[in-house]
Amino acid sequence: MKTAFLYSDAFARFDYGARHPLKPFRLKLAYELIRACGLLGSPDPRLVEAIPAGIDELRTFHAPDYLDALAASNSGRPAPGAETYGLGPGDNPVFAGMYEWSALIAGASLRAADLVDSGEVQAAFNIAGGLHHSLASRASGFCYINDPVLAIRRLVDRGRKVAYIDIDAHHGDGVQEAFYGTDRVLTVSLHESGRFLFPGSGFEHETGSGAGAGLSVNVPLPPDTDDELVVHAFTVVVPPLIEAFRPDVVVSQLGVDTFRTDPVAHLNVTTNGFCDMVRMIRDLSPKWVALGGGGYDIANVARAWTLAWALMNDVVAPEVIPAAFLEQYAGAGFLNDKLRDEPYGIEGPRKDEMRKEVDRVIAGIRENIVAGS
Ligand SMILES: [Zn+2]
Repeated sequence: MKTAFLYSDAFARFDYGARHPLKPFRLKLAYELIRACGLLGSPDPRLVEAIPAGIDELRTFHAPDYLDALAASNSGRPAPGAETYGLGPGDNPVFAGMYEWSALIAGASLRAADLVDSGEVQAAFNIAGGLHHSLASRASGFCYINDPVLAIRRLVDRGRKVAYIDIDAHHGDGVQEAFYGTDRVLTVSLHESGRFLFPGSGFEHETGSGAGAGLSVNVPLPPDTDDELVVHAFTVVVPPLIEAFRPDVVVSQLGVDTFRTDPVAHLNVTTNGFCDMVRMIRDLSPKWVALGGGGYDIANVARAWTLAWALMNDVVAPEVIPAAFLEQYAGAGFLNDKLRDEPYGIEGPRKDEMRKEVDRVIAGIRENIVAGS
């Protein structure tokens, strides 16, 4: 499979602040691990330098006044009225270069979409992308510019049908909202239930409206969900939808804040369940734009996206993380030298309860999607 990996050294130059969970350094860590595992050379024809999106490209989704406020806060000092756009202390801090950071990531996702759509490559991976929460005129959930929406818009504007598959721990609310009423985009999001986690939406009864009725699909999962259950839910729900919708392109958000050791969400996914889902996404995608997403245990981020990149290239990643890499990044939190996690699953009454809940959700999806189509 011909592939492209979007990257820029600048990805890791930005800083949300010492106490913020999103660490742009994780992107450098992932890139360096991929290289250390021999999955990218230097130079490598698959490596594509990310270039910032222009203002006209950002305006295809975002409101001009919001973009002005972002640009005016790029110095690191909030522009007057910035808080009305969700910018300020907390989830969406004003930091030096925030506009540049956002435009660079958006540019990479747009380029990924172009490369895939033109047929130059069959799959492209922007590990910095997948910032799925931001709205047309509001920052949300660590996201300022919604790069998945921009990439999908570009494809739709060229007449493509796009399926968006989001396996982040959080509901892909910004992407769902942008395409809620269109029949050109199917959005599917599997996530920890909004009853327990930000952004509090993404229930099975949210199914789209008007021409888009039945084309927004949500799989809210109970806290503690493990590999077996998330893979079960994915397998039952996603492939039949994609096969029925017949997209030209699949855009996927591969967030890894679903992992057991992630500090933000409460799920129990490991590299095993994650790779099962990535493999299914690959096999369902006629053309594939893969984006990153959440992930706040940076060692997990590096391991998981290394494995995803290997799957994208249909090669086998090594079992062990190279010693020189581990030594160089000893402070990054790697628990051992294994690239993959040991199998892990919940047993007992809690598992029965979770299984019942997941089956109830799946039944609800079937009912709602059938009723809505
Ligand atoms: Zn997330």
